[in-house]
Amino acid sequence: MIPRTIAIDGPSASGKSTVGELLARRLGYLYFDTGVMYRALTHAILRAGIAVGDESAVSALSERVHIDVLPLTVSDGRQNTILLDGADVTQRLRDRAIDANVSAVSAYPRVRAAMVRQQRVIGGRGDVVMIGRDIGTVVLPHADLKVFLTASEEERARRRHRENCARGDLTPYADVLVALRQRDAQDSTRATAPLRAADDAHVIDTELMDANTVVATICSLWT
Ligand code: C5P
Repeated sequence: MIPRTIAIDGPSASGKSTVGELLARRLGYLYFDTGVMYRALTHAILRAGIAVGDESAVSALSERVHIDVLPLTVSDGRQNTILLDGADVTQRLRDRAIDANVSAVSAYPRVRAAMVRQQRVIGGRGDVVMIGRDIGTVVLPHADLKVFLTASEEERARRRHRENCARGDLTPYADVLVALRQRDAQDSTRATAPLRAADDAHVIDTELMDANTVVATICSLWT
Protein backbone atom coordinates (compact mmCIF):
# COMPACT_ATOMS: atom_id res chain seq x y z
CA MET A 1 0.00 0.00 0.00
CA ILE A 2 1.30 3.48 -0.85
CA PRO A 3 2.17 5.35 2.38
CA ARG A 4 0.06 8.50 2.91
CA THR A 5 2.44 10.28 5.26
CA ILE A 6 6.12 10.17 4.36
CA ALA A 7 8.78 11.62 6.68
CA ILE A 8 12.20 12.41 5.22
CA ASP A 9 14.94 13.54 7.60
CA GLY A 10 18.68 14.03 7.28
CA PRO A 11 21.52 16.52 7.66
CA SER A 12 22.04 19.62 5.50
CA ALA A 13 22.25 19.02 1.75
CA SER A 14 21.64 15.28 2.05
CA GLY A 15 19.16 15.58 -0.83
CA LYS A 16 15.97 15.87 1.23
CA SER A 17 14.41 18.74 -0.66
CA THR A 18 15.18 17.55 -4.20
CA VAL A 19 14.11 14.00 -3.43
CA GLY A 20 11.11 15.10 -1.38
CA GLU A 21 9.81 17.33 -4.14
CA LEU A 22 10.27 14.67 -6.85
CA LEU A 23 8.55 12.07 -4.70
CA ALA A 24 5.65 14.39 -3.82
CA ARG A 25 5.17 15.24 -7.48
CA ARG A 26 5.21 11.57 -8.48
CA LEU A 27 2.58 10.71 -5.87
CA GLY A 28 0.52 13.89 -6.27
CA TYR A 29 1.17 14.73 -2.60
CA LEU A 30 1.83 18.00 -0.81
CA TYR A 31 5.55 18.70 -0.47
CA PHE A 32 6.27 20.37 2.87
CA ASP A 33 9.77 21.52 3.79
CA THR A 34 9.70 22.28 7.53
CA GLY A 35 13.16 23.90 7.44
CA VAL A 36 11.63 26.97 5.78
CA MET A 37 9.55 27.61 8.90
CA TYR A 38 12.67 27.88 11.07
CA ARG A 39 14.26 30.01 8.36
CA ALA A 40 11.24 32.34 8.14
CA LEU A 41 11.23 32.73 11.92
CA THR A 42 14.98 33.51 11.91
CA HIS A 43 14.31 36.13 9.23
CA ALA A 44 11.63 37.69 11.44
CA ILE A 45 13.99 37.74 14.43
CA LEU A 46 16.86 39.38 12.54
CA ARG A 47 14.49 41.89 10.95
CA ALA A 48 13.04 42.83 14.34
CA GLY A 49 16.57 43.40 15.70
CA ILE A 50 16.12 40.72 18.39
CA ALA A 51 19.38 39.11 19.56
CA VAL A 52 19.40 35.43 18.60
CA GLY A 53 20.80 34.62 22.06
CA ASP A 54 17.80 36.21 23.79
CA GLU A 55 15.84 32.99 24.33
CA SER A 56 12.74 34.54 25.87
CA ALA A 57 12.35 37.24 23.18
CA VAL A 58 12.98 34.71 20.38
CA SER A 59 10.53 32.24 21.95
CA ALA A 60 7.87 34.93 22.42
CA LEU A 61 8.17 35.98 18.77
CA SER A 62 7.90 32.35 17.62
CA GLU A 63 4.54 32.13 19.40
CA ARG A 64 3.30 35.37 17.80
CA VAL A 65 4.28 35.02 14.13
CA HIS A 66 2.14 33.24 11.63
CA ILE A 67 4.04 31.25 9.03
CA ASP A 68 2.23 29.71 6.08
CA VAL A 69 3.80 27.21 3.71
CA LEU A 70 1.86 27.17 0.46
CA PRO A 71 2.21 24.65 -2.36
CA LEU A 72 4.06 25.75 -5.48
CA THR A 73 2.27 28.77 -6.94
CA VAL A 74 4.95 30.55 -8.99
CA SER A 75 7.05 28.86 -11.68
CA ASP A 76 10.37 30.45 -10.69
CA GLY A 77 11.97 27.31 -9.30
CA ARG A 78 10.74 27.76 -5.74
CA GLN A 79 9.42 24.66 -4.00
CA ASN A 80 6.99 26.22 -1.55
CA THR A 81 5.86 29.81 -1.11
CA ILE A 82 6.45 31.03 2.44
CA LEU A 83 4.32 33.75 3.97
CA LEU A 84 5.43 35.48 7.15
CA ASP A 85 2.43 37.26 8.65
CA GLY A 86 0.97 37.36 5.15
CA ALA A 87 4.07 38.71 3.33
CA ASP A 88 5.97 36.56 0.82
CA VAL A 89 9.53 36.07 2.19
CA THR A 90 10.47 33.07 0.03
CA GLN A 91 13.41 34.74 -1.70
CA ARG A 92 15.01 35.88 1.57
CA LEU A 93 15.35 32.54 3.28
CA ARG A 94 18.68 31.34 1.83
CA ASP A 95 20.63 34.42 2.97
CA ARG A 96 23.90 33.66 4.72
CA ALA A 97 22.77 35.45 7.88
CA ILE A 98 19.89 32.99 8.16
CA ASP A 99 22.18 29.97 7.57
CA ALA A 100 24.43 31.24 10.35
CA ASN A 101 21.65 31.78 12.92
CA VAL A 102 18.88 29.28 12.18
CA SER A 103 20.33 26.40 14.22
CA ALA A 104 20.57 28.55 17.37
CA VAL A 105 16.96 29.67 16.93
CA SER A 106 15.67 26.17 16.28
CA ALA A 107 17.34 24.76 19.39
CA TYR A 108 14.97 26.61 21.77
CA PRO A 109 12.25 24.28 23.16
CA ARG A 110 9.42 26.87 22.98
CA VAL A 111 10.34 27.65 19.38
CA ARG A 112 10.19 23.97 18.48
CA ALA A 113 6.86 23.52 20.24
CA ALA A 114 5.36 26.46 18.33
CA MET A 115 6.64 25.23 14.95
CA VAL A 116 5.77 21.57 15.52
CA ARG A 117 2.19 22.53 16.43
CA GLN A 118 1.74 24.17 13.03
CA GLN A 119 3.55 21.35 11.19
CA ARG A 120 1.31 18.66 12.69
CA VAL A 121 -1.84 20.39 11.50
CA ILE A 122 -0.57 20.14 7.93
CA GLY A 123 1.01 16.67 8.27
CA GLY A 124 -2.07 15.25 9.93
CA ARG A 125 -4.10 15.74 6.76
CA GLY A 126 -2.17 12.93 5.03
CA ASP A 127 -0.95 12.74 1.43
CA VAL A 128 2.15 14.64 2.40
CA VAL A 129 5.91 14.33 2.03
CA MET A 130 7.34 16.24 4.98
CA ILE A 131 11.05 16.90 5.26
CA GLY A 132 13.19 18.14 8.15
CA ARG A 133 15.37 16.97 11.03
CA ASP A 134 12.82 15.57 13.50
CA ILE A 135 9.84 14.54 11.38
CA GLY A 136 10.18 10.79 11.99
CA THR A 137 11.16 11.19 15.64
CA VAL A 138 8.89 14.01 16.88
CA VAL A 139 6.57 15.68 14.37
CA LEU A 140 5.05 12.55 12.81
CA PRO A 141 6.18 9.62 14.96
CA HIS A 142 3.43 7.52 13.37
CA ALA A 143 4.31 8.41 9.75
CA ASP A 144 3.50 5.55 7.37
CA LEU A 145 7.06 5.65 5.98
CA LYS A 146 10.23 7.14 7.46
CA VAL A 147 13.39 7.77 5.46
CA PHE A 148 16.71 9.15 6.68
CA LEU A 149 19.12 10.36 3.99
CA THR A 150 22.88 10.53 4.53
CA ALA A 151 26.05 11.34 2.56
CA SER A 152 29.56 12.39 3.55
CA GLU A 153 30.16 15.99 4.66
CA GLU A 154 32.32 16.61 1.61
CA GLU A 155 29.70 15.37 -0.86
CA ARG A 156 26.98 17.40 0.87
CA ALA A 157 29.15 20.52 0.85
CA ARG A 158 29.82 19.97 -2.88
CA ARG A 159 26.06 19.80 -3.52
CA ARG A 160 25.36 22.93 -1.46
CA HIS A 161 28.23 24.76 -3.19
CA ARG A 162 26.80 23.85 -6.63
CA GLU A 163 23.32 25.01 -5.60
CA ASN A 164 24.71 28.28 -4.23
CA CYS A 165 26.69 28.97 -7.40
CA ALA A 166 23.59 28.35 -9.51
CA ARG A 167 21.86 31.08 -7.46
CA GLY A 168 24.80 33.46 -7.91
CA ASP A 169 26.24 32.95 -4.40
CA LEU A 170 29.96 32.32 -4.99
CA THR A 171 30.98 31.49 -1.39
CA PRO A 172 34.09 29.25 -1.68
CA TYR A 173 33.68 25.49 -1.17
CA ALA A 174 35.89 25.50 1.96
CA ASP A 175 33.62 28.06 3.66
CA VAL A 176 30.50 26.11 2.66
CA LEU A 177 32.00 22.99 4.24
CA VAL A 178 32.81 24.78 7.52
CA ALA A 179 29.31 26.31 7.75
CA LEU A 180 27.63 22.96 6.98
CA ARG A 181 29.72 21.20 9.66
CA GLN A 182 28.79 23.83 12.22
CA ARG A 183 25.08 23.66 11.47
CA ASP A 184 25.02 19.84 11.56
CA ALA A 185 26.95 19.79 14.84
CA GLN A 186 24.47 22.23 16.42
CA ASP A 187 21.45 20.37 15.02
CA SER A 188 22.73 16.96 16.18
CA THR A 189 23.76 17.93 19.70
CA ARG A 190 20.85 20.15 20.82
CA ALA A 191 18.89 18.85 23.80
CA THR A 192 15.42 19.11 22.22
CA ALA A 193 14.62 16.98 19.16
CA PRO A 194 18.20 16.57 17.88
CA LEU A 195 18.82 15.43 14.32
CA ARG A 196 18.79 11.63 14.31
CA ALA A 197 17.24 8.74 12.44
CA ALA A 198 14.09 7.28 14.01
CA ASP A 199 14.58 3.66 15.07
CA ASP A 200 12.13 2.55 12.37
CA ALA A 201 13.55 4.79 9.59
CA HIS A 202 15.04 3.40 6.38
CA VAL A 203 18.54 4.88 6.20
CA ILE A 204 19.66 5.55 2.62
CA ASP A 205 23.25 6.54 1.81
CA THR A 206 22.90 8.91 -1.17
CA GLU A 207 26.65 9.47 -1.67
CA LEU A 208 26.77 7.85 -5.10
CA MET A 209 23.13 8.27 -6.13
CA ASP A 210 21.40 10.92 -8.16
CA ALA A 211 18.01 12.18 -6.97
CA ASN A 212 15.99 9.96 -9.31
CA THR A 213 17.80 6.87 -8.04
CA VAL A 214 17.03 7.87 -4.44
CA VAL A 215 13.34 8.34 -5.35
CA ALA A 216 13.29 4.92 -7.05
CA THR A 217 14.92 3.39 -3.95
CA ILE A 218 12.26 4.95 -1.71
CA CYS A 219 9.41 3.78 -3.97
CA SER A 220 10.86 0.25 -3.93
CA LEU A 221 10.17 0.20 -0.18
CA TRP A 222 6.46 -0.35 -0.80
CA THR A 223 6.26 -1.78 -4.34
O1 C5P B 1 16.56 22.06 5.95
P1 C5P B 1 17.13 23.44 6.16
O2 C5P B 1 18.61 23.51 5.95
O3 C5P B 1 16.42 24.51 5.40
O4 C5P B 1 16.87 23.73 7.70
C1 C5P B 1 17.36 24.90 8.31
C2 C5P B 1 17.54 24.65 9.81
O5 C5P B 1 16.26 24.55 10.43
C3 C5P B 1 18.30 23.41 10.20
O6 C5P B 1 19.70 23.59 10.19
C4 C5P B 1 17.77 23.15 11.60
O7 C5P B 1 18.45 23.94 12.55
C5 C5P B 1 16.34 23.64 11.53
N1 C5P B 1 15.36 22.58 11.35
C6 C5P B 1 14.95 21.88 12.46
N2 C5P B 1 13.97 20.95 12.38
C7 C5P B 1 13.38 20.71 11.20
C8 C5P B 1 13.79 21.38 10.02
C9 C5P B 1 14.80 22.30 10.13
O8 C5P B 1 15.50 22.09 13.55
N3 C5P B 1 12.38 19.81 11.15
